[in-house]
Amino acid sequence: MANQLPDPVTFLDRSCRGVDQDFFFPSTAEQKREVRAFCGGCPRLAECADWAIPQVLAGLLTESYVAGVQMPPLSARSKTPRQQLRHNVAVELAQVADAARGAQMEGAA
Ligand code: SF4
Repeated sequence: MANQLPDPVTFLDRSCRGVDQDFFFPSTAEQKREVRAFCGGCPRLAECADWAIPQVLAGLLTESYVAGVQMPPLSARSKTPRQQLRHNVAVELAQVADAARGAQMEGAA
């Protein structure tokens, strides 16, 4: 099923606009923390995480970080079945989206 949600690249106010894509492929723990913090401050975090859920479940997102969440590995390094890995990431993305919406509501109150 096609993703009906807008691709985050269409959001002109996203924090990653103009940021080198390599930033979202961190290799060290420090770099990974930086990406999570960076996305955590993005005004489009909830929409980005919502968009990514069907993408990751369809196997269209791998390796990089999206909405501060690490996508499943492309290669089978894990003993966990690929579909389970995708599901786990989708659950994490849903939690990120819910938390971001909660923070937005608190900020608006
Ligand atoms: S949450 Fe992160 S990846 Fe998504 S639009 Fe914002 S900065 Fe970009």
